Amino acid sequence: MESGLMLYNTLTRSKEVFQPINPPSVGLYVCGPTVYGDPHLGHARPAITFDLLFRYLRSAGYKVRYVRNITDVGHLENDADEGEDKISKKARLEQLEPMEVAHYYTERYHDAMRALGVLSPSIEPTASGHIIEQIEFVRKILDSGYAYISNGSVYFDVEKYNRVYRYGALSGRRLEDMLGGTRELDGQGDKHSTVDFALWKKASPEHIMRWPSPWSDGFPGWHMECSAMSTKYLGERFDIHGGGMDLMFPHHECEMAQNTAVTGHGGAKYWIHNNMITINGQKMGKSLGNFITLEEMFTGGHRMLEQAYSPMTIRFFILQAHYRSTLDFSNEALQAAEKGLDRLMKAVETLRKIVPGEVSSVDVDDLERRYREAMDDDLNSPLVIAALFDWVRIINQLYEGKQTISASDLERLRSLVDKIVFDVLGLRDEKGEEANDMVTPLVEMLLEMRTKAKVAKDWATSDMIRDRMSAIGIRVKDRKDGYDWEIE
Ligand code: ZN
Repeated sequence: MESGLMLYNTLTRSKEVFQPINPPSVGLYVCGPTVYGDPHLGHARPAITFDLLFRYLRSAGYKVRYVRNITDVGHLENDADEGEDKISKKARLEQLEPMEVAHYYTERYHDAMRALGVLSPSIEPTASGHIIEQIEFVRKILDSGYAYISNGSVYFDVEKYNRVYRYGALSGRRLEDMLGGTRELDGQGDKHSTVDFALWKKASPEHIMRWPSPWSDGFPGWHMECSAMSTKYLGERFDIHGGGMDLMFPHHECEMAQNTAVTGHGGAKYWIHNNMITINGQKMGKSLGNFITLEEMFTGGHRMLEQAYSPMTIRFFILQAHYRSTLDFSNEALQAAEKGLDRLMKAVETLRKIVPGEVSSVDVDDLERRYREAMDDDLNSPLVIAALFDWVRIINQLYEGKQTISASDLERLRSLVDKIVFDVLGLRDEKGEEANDMVTPLVEMLLEMRTKAKVAKDWATSDMIRDRMSAIGIRVKDRKDGYDWEIE
């Protein structure tokens, strides 16, 4: 269980040794998607980042309860307290029930995540399924005195809160700057101050997603669901809260303030944020025409894409950058990732074919140490991949007989590579999956026939088998003592 894991905590702006509150249990809460549209590249990065953390913690022996929510109500159009609910709007435009929209896009999200090798969380609660808990949370904030009721809505009193605690502690913002000198409330409706945020909103007559509450028929503010659901499933204090950097303010800042108003502390001990992606150096956005859904990535169906990119290429590409760096998607970079992944998967395959010798000329501990040091240093997956590529070269040397490895070291190397590549990085051998149970024995049978033809010096048959296989995309490479084959 003892691990030397260091994580960068947004709250303290430093790397800290990870010490769970109640080991071996770890509580992990991550903000999931608002389900009103197709999952896109912006969903892939947080999902893969926290999947890596989830997998690494589990491999270190922790018992992780991973909660990732589904936002199906309360997230208004402009990410603040005004505008239409994103899901209601889609439902209105498509003449569907809001829950039909939420269900459809939840399924689409799940399909995409499965393709990307993202493990299912332990609990996936929905905002609409936790209205009672949210109303209760709002009531507690009112009791603590940090909220007020205004015309059927309930707002968080940021300035009052800030006199005791610090609003902006997470995002590093100052309340004075947020107030920006102007204290006018043009168009702010029922709020006492521009910086206040909604805990409960009274529904306008046309608003369809509404629930009864002590204050009005209405719906919870967007930030309320995460306070209610994280503490319900993980306790008032829990270990890690994650999400994309774009959620740090206002979403996480408000969530922390809500928790603090009730319990005196912000909930999570470690706040972890992944950085954003860009596309050809630009922010992704619908108005910029560079908004690419995951399905478009997988099929190549977007005018900016030169080809389709498999889910594992996307995953590998994301893991090749540290989660706190920005990551730029371009055809060139994705094609390089595709080649790199192919080389890695071939080496994993080659590793299975190596014959052990008496002694080892290679040091398996080197890979183990580099893997651990990199992962313990704030999940430095690019360094893990760099170490793997050094070992791709060594594996090929072992196969070619330029290095030797003992039977016990070989066994250790195989299980270590499997653990890193499949269990922790969460990659899959997509091409290997193509060579399914039926293809492999058929190819092997044809190649045996070819070997017999060669022994009989029947070159015409031997060449024909090789050429016909090549035509359907199976490449055969002859070796001194046999052959290798692969699907191109
Ligand atoms: Zn959230």
